[in-house]
Amino acid sequence: MIKGKFPIEKFKNIETPFYYYDVDLLNKTLELVGKCSKEHGFEVHYAVKANANKKVLGIISGAGLGADCVSGNEVQAAIEAGFPANKIVFAGVGKTDKEINLALDNDIFCFNAESIPELEVIDELAGKKGKIANVELRINPNVDAHTHQKITTGLNENKFGFNIEDLPFIVKMIQRSKNLKFVGLHFHIGSQITDLTVYESLCVRINEIQDDFDKWGVKVENINIGGGLGINYEHPNHIPIADFESYFRIFSKHLKLREGQRLHCEPGRSLVAQCGSLITKVTYVKKGVNKQFAIVDAGMTDLIRPALYDAYHRIENISSDNPVEKYDVVGPICESSDVFDKDVELNRTQRGDYLAIRSAGAYGEIMASGYNLRKLPLGYLSTEL
Ligand SMILES: *Cc1c(COP(=O)(O)O)cnc(C)c1O
Repeated sequence: MIKGKFPIEKFKNIETPFYYYDVDLLNKTLELVGKCSKEHGFEVHYAVKANANKKVLGIISGAGLGADCVSGNEVQAAIEAGFPANKIVFAGVGKTDKEINLALDNDIFCFNAESIPELEVIDELAGKKGKIANVELRINPNVDAHTHQKITTGLNENKFGFNIEDLPFIVKMIQRSKNLKFVGLHFHIGSQITDLTVYESLCVRINEIQDDFDKWGVKVENINIGGGLGINYEHPNHIPIADFESYFRIFSKHLKLREGQRLHCEPGRSLVAQCGSLITKVTYVKKGVNKQFAIVDAGMTDLIRPALYDAYHRIENISSDNPVEKYDVVGPICESSDVFDKDVELNRTQRGDYLAIRSAGAYGEIMASGYNLRKLPLGYLSTEL
């Protein structure tokens, strides 16, 4: 069994469970993204919601990326982490007045607006401050992302974005307003997309929508294609970096950009998932009738993806070289869904062993909760241990 490399001696001084971030891998990922985005003329905004650990945010802002935020607190965190305000975009169906005011006060690049009532409120609040708010319209392109039903967002039945039929009216409404400036179109169709032909379909839809804007004589300065690129949860050791080359190439090849148009994207998971592992210690090994359980000190409160989406995470016993046996790896929380995985092949495991739950850098630490009055897990960079 090929395992990731972990500084296990150093782990012994840290209270488990905790998140461990491999900075070398994060930097390699950011380098590749930087290279590809330059080559294909993309501006990359990191989707802060995937992981807002301050130290991780600092590394990503240091690499020169912008930020994609979905709450006022994320806008604040992005600014504190050093992301330039003019590279911050703000999406979300339910932005409150307080959040909109915060974004206006910080002069972020744009609001990715999702409804008419939201546009009315941004207009009014910007007016009170004597400001002009840049808005991109989030369009629901009705493209199926072929991903898990709870993380697909671009279909007509989802709550996100404007319907295409309403666009002529909305564009006129923005043009009439003194405090709104239309700066582009925004799309985000789902997450953990591994079938890249989905992005070709998105390009075809965007090309059609652009033709409509040409007909209406409305200039579109920015096209933002959102995030969603998937990673390989099965093979984090063999495929540690997402296929950014193919991803960027698809848009270069299939998207018909107009003169002077700028292209933006918002990767979250694909930047941070593989660099993170949840490190947990085995509290007990319990023999059942037909099974054995590795009961670990991490639970669904630390990493909820398996319980919430049936998500697979590779699990490795990083402190044992014994021959493998099968275990159900479960947490201590009083919920039957508190199972990380069943029939996992682990090197023979005993109390006190360390397990690494891999590919947990995205939607891991940030989704932790205090249910059962548990302590929130901390995150450590490989460089600080
Ligand atoms: C969640 C989200 C992203 C990032 O999605 P990933 O699948 O993590 O890449 C990007 N843009 C918007 C608007 C989002 O809501």
